[in-house]
Amino acid sequence: MKLDLNQIRQPETPFEATYAPDRFADGDQDYTVAAPVVLRLTIYKDKARVRLAGRVTTTLGLECGRCLEPYALPVEGVFDLQYVPLADAGEFAEREIGDDDMSVAFYEEETIDLRQLVDEQCYLALPMKPLCRPDCQGLCPDCGTNLNQGVCGCTRVWVDPRLDVLKTLITSDRKNDDA
Ligand SMILES: [Zn+2]
Ligand SMILES: [Zn+2]
Repeated sequence: MKLDLNQIRQPETPFEATYAPDRFADGDQDYTVAAPVVLRLTIYKDKARVRLAGRVTTTLGLECGRCLEPYALPVEGVFDLQYVPLADAGEFAEREIGDDDMSVAFYEEETIDLRQLVDEQCYLALPMKPLCRPDCQGLCPDCGTNLNQGVCGCTRVWVDPRLDVLKTLITSDRKNDDA
């Protein structure tokens, strides 16, 4: 998944590739890649300076944070990245620090690692709290039944914490009565 810059001779080169999901299975990510990864981009090359602009399309497999069931998250990551040779990193940082209108990465040996680009786009697409659907009912805290799939026998009464205090008062009141 390397982009060989020696092969790029035009200032503007379209690039398209599709990678099988199992090529992304080696990492210890919080997701699985569940569909082929389609990469469509334009390579802009100005001497050593390279800009990649395009999109990554795939589907990620995630686990719902509430019911723990696996679910699919379609991803379409749009990127516009600038690359400069690692050898110029110091000079570049000095010159353009604070220039945050574009992301900058570094490349070595005339090669850009597209795997890294895809990984990054996948991470950016991850939700803060993965949910299989916005109204996921989650699991019953008592018996573990997936409440999206059916109800369990447990009595689940949502108790307002304020009412809980009241209940304690009533209970202790009863105890006093018994005494
Ligand atoms: Zn869920
Ligand atoms: Zn239950």
